Amino acid sequence: MLSVLEVKRKLPRDFIKELYEIYSPLVCDKILAGLNGERNVSMRVNTIKTNVQEIMKVLKENNIKFERVMWYKDGLILKNSNEKQINALKIYEEGLIYLQSLSSMIPPLVLEPKEGEKILDLTAAPGGKTTEIAALMNNNGYILANEIDKIRCERLKYNVEKQGASIIKINNGKGEKLGEDHKEEFDRVLLDAPCSGEGTFLANGPKTYTSWSLRTVNELAKLQKKLIKSAYEALKPNGTMIYSTCTINLEEDEKIVDWAIKNLNLRVIDINLNIEEKNKLPITTENMDKSINKTIKIMPSRNMEGFYIAKLQKIERRGE
Ligand code: SAM
Repeated sequence: MLSVLEVKRKLPRDFIKELYEIYSPLVCDKILAGLNGERNVSMRVNTIKTNVQEIMKVLKENNIKFERVMWYKDGLILKNSNEKQINALKIYEEGLIYLQSLSSMIPPLVLEPKEGEKILDLTAAPGGKTTEIAALMNNNGYILANEIDKIRCERLKYNVEKQGASIIKINNGKGEKLGEDHKEEFDRVLLDAPCSGEGTFLANGPKTYTSWSLRTVNELAKLQKKLIKSAYEALKPNGTMIYSTCTINLEEDEKIVDWAIKNLNLRVIDINLNIEEKNKLPITTENMDKSINKTIKIMPSRNMEGFYIAKLQKIERRGE
């Protein structure tokens, strides 16, 4: 395990500077501790094919220690095993479980999809959240899962088939275009945006942060605005949108939501999920709309990646 000073030296200097500009020194130290060491493996039970009791039984038989998640009955945190050991199990091979970070399980839960609805997942590969949405809908309804990258699209297709999520249709295209092509068609839209991934940094894993730069953050923010506009266009009036990222800076999180509510007909709504306060980062609203306080940011830790989630609703136009 590295000291906080060593973590600071390893991660990009501009990232550290940015952190200390946003958060208090105490919060920064907690974030840096959360980007140190390793993360526990977590899994989601695929309720299209099985149930959590069955999976807990198999884990016990294989001497795999686990903990349940307070806010999600189908999420399990593994205590003494790595991905390789899980990949060797029959329950993995048969798509009865999906290895997924805990934070990444939050956006579909907050989206609250219902059976029979039409859902759009604008940036979907490799498909952890798309297949979670299908499971939450008991595989009943329709999900359009879009992905720009051809190879990642293949991975998405593989995961969807393996999980038996037959209500998912896959599209290989630009998310920015879908709003125009599917105007006001969807009850709910998930925009799990391409982002700079700061919440997934690990000081001992240079691959997690070497491509990060302030320039990339700014370029991504421009793309995120185009994508959120497209997501808005595809949403029915009164429909729900989730905007999420696995990053923790303001440019890609709070400021995107602020831009969206000032430029599109959207409002921020409450997130009702019982996540402990100690697992949350403070939200910044300086010079921004105060309703952004309803969004949540997850503190990076041993169990969770840093993550940002905003729940938005399209305001119905009156008199039309
Ligand atoms: N929701 C996914 C999951 O849970 O497995 C992860 C999505 S990842 C954060 C963002 C995805 O957006 C990447 O697969 C990336 O290739 C894709 N992407 C990037 N730019 C895009 C665009 N303009 N249109 C559609 N997808 C895009």
